[in-house]
Amino acid sequence: MKRFQNLAEKIRSSYFTLLTDTHDEKEWIFYTELTSLLERLLNVSYIGFYKYNHWNNSFLLMNEKNNYIKVEINDHDHYYKEAMMNNTCQTFHQDHDIIKTKDLSLTYATIPLQPKIGPVCFLLIQNDATSQLQDDVLPIIKTETEKVLNIINDMNIMGEREKKEQFLLERTSQFFSTSDKNKILKEILESIKKIYPTFSHYLLLSQDYDHNSSLPIKALEYSDDSTKRVSSQAFISGEIQIEDRLLDKKTYMYAPLKGKQGIYGVLQIITPSIVEFPDFDIEFIKRFADTAGKAIENVTLYQDSKHLVADLKLINEITHQLNSNLNLREITKVVKNQIINICHASQLGFIYVNKENNHSFEVLDGSTSYFESIEGRSLFKYLWDQLLKTKDAIFAGEFQSELNIPYRSVMAVPMQHSGTITGIVIILHEQPYFFSFDNFKFIQSLVQHSTLALANTILKEQLEKAVHTDYLTKLYARSYLDEKIRDHMETGEMGTLILFDIDDFKKVNDTHGHYIGDEVIKQIAEIILTNIEDEDVAARWGGEELAIYLPNTTLNDGVQIAGVISKQVANFTSPSVTLSAGVSSWSNKSNDTAKRFFVRADKALYEAKSYGKNCVVKKSQDEEEPVIHE
Ligand code: GH3
Ligand code: MG
Ligand code: MG
Repeated sequence: MKRFQNLAEKIRSSYFTLLTDTHDEKEWIFYTELTSLLERLLNVSYIGFYKYNHWNNSFLLMNEKNNYIKVEINDHDHYYKEAMMNNTCQTFHQDHDIIKTKDLSLTYATIPLQPKIGPVCFLLIQNDATSQLQDDVLPIIKTETEKVLNIINDMNIMGEREKKEQFLLERTSQFFSTSDKNKILKEILESIKKIYPTFSHYLLLSQDYDHNSSLPIKALEYSDDSTKRVSSQAFISGEIQIEDRLLDKKTYMYAPLKGKQGIYGVLQIITPSIVEFPDFDIEFIKRFADTAGKAIENVTLYQDSKHLVADLKLINEITHQLNSNLNLREITKVVKNQIINICHASQLGFIYVNKENNHSFEVLDGSTSYFESIEGRSLFKYLWDQLLKTKDAIFAGEFQSELNIPYRSVMAVPMQHSGTITGIVIILHEQPYFFSFDNFKFIQSLVQHSTLALANTILKEQLEKAVHTDYLTKLYARSYLDEKIRDHMETGEMGTLILFDIDDFKKVNDTHGHYIGDEVIKQIAEIILTNIEDEDVAARWGGEELAIYLPNTTLNDGVQIAGVISKQVANFTSPSVTLSAGVSSWSNKSNDTAKRFFVRADKALYEAKSYGKNCVVKKSQDEEEPVIHE
């Protein structure tokens, strides 16, 4: 009895010294000191201290530096299982699984430790022939060691809680010190990894995030699918959800990242085996996720406001540009460049509805050529019908229609002017969900701001065209032809003018009436248009006199064209008429003026009449009479 008391006192006083000497040391040092102390007192060759770890459901050898030997719980481990169940010490006289040895002189004892605070543990004592450790000593070691564990665990838990509080405090200031969202997400993941290094962690985010990020971030999917339901539930309810998946033997925890205004995603924590999270950890993770959610909210709001200011600045700049008297081509170019810059569209169409012309669609300059194709045309007609029905812009990331088009991302924004839809801006990309909602909002704002300038310019150009167009023949008016010739004589190299006059037109009027006379003039205008190129300018020079200016064309080529037209007029007009034509040309190689150039053509025409009509006469600069007054 005395001997036991002595041993108990010895152990107690050694443990007391151990406890008082313990400062914030590493756990393994404490257990190494504890076991070597016991080894000396009991005179045994080795003692192992095993502690249950609920995160991975196994016992870890604690008194080994960096070498926590795992003891998996399985059916062979009856020695400690039984000891644990009965909470009684046991001695073994044979070798077993933990320490493989064939030395039959060794015996082993296990002492289960069930402290009031903290996880269960056990001591494994290797006893050789010389140590003579008695079984009845074991309960004493058990009692004293459990007391020490109660004290040390109490200190540890307090320490751990304090550490976690401190950790949360540090994260809070760290998270709020940056305005870079990716940096915050990275810090959230790194922090949780520090606290729970053996778990896997993912962020499931609901908003746009950097898809190129190497971080373990996944898109939060809303679905009834059982695997996604729990995460959706955490996201929707704002409450932590825990799910044990028996099949893959893992526990999944979903902590919502909650801010003041909304929930921004879910932190997913996956344990390597099924575990029961202690209340303290659930509370800790909840508070951590709240801190993270507020930080994400903060930076999201900050970025949104920065975007908004940047967008407003840009729109302001564009509005300035648009109001600086640009022509239609320049306006669509400004808008096009902005759209391409912002959303990297692969097709872009500006479609205008021409009310003057039977509500026909007009593909404006700046549109990509796709909208001139049959497929492009049927797409904008389809989108136009949709717009008229819904009166709302279209934003699709997975565009579905009966049209078989290769574009999955579609944005279609109406151009609205004084309450009516005057056109539509269409932006396409092959990849699904290519455009962000921010892109869409920006384009809407851009189109809204540019529609007025666009509509005004279209109106202005239509008016200008009307002023420059002859109402009867739809050829240009003479003023326009004059202007074009004067401009070209300043900048170009050469050009040729053909003047036509219908022969004996009075007779046509007299015989068929003025109306038929007008029809004949129209027929001649049509014949002229089919015989000239885009850069040539055909105009109504006077009543029944028509003219063509051919830039960069020689006198003789002009004569030839005049001949072809005259022949067709003679053959195809009804009632049939003939033309007389005068042709002149200019070149920047010799001095000339627009007035003299006109006069030469007029003189040539006069000569054609005097030669008996229905013929072409040319007048070069050499044949010109000397100029006396000008
Ligand atoms: P010439 O062969 O000498 O040219 O004989 P002409 O009868 O054609 O005479 P002129 O070129 O002087 O023709 C002038 C006539 O053309 C006067 C007018 O009756 C007719 N005319 C001029 N402008 C129009 C027009 O816009 N419509 C119609 N129907 N007739 C016009
Ligand atoms: Mg005439
Ligand atoms: Mg005439």
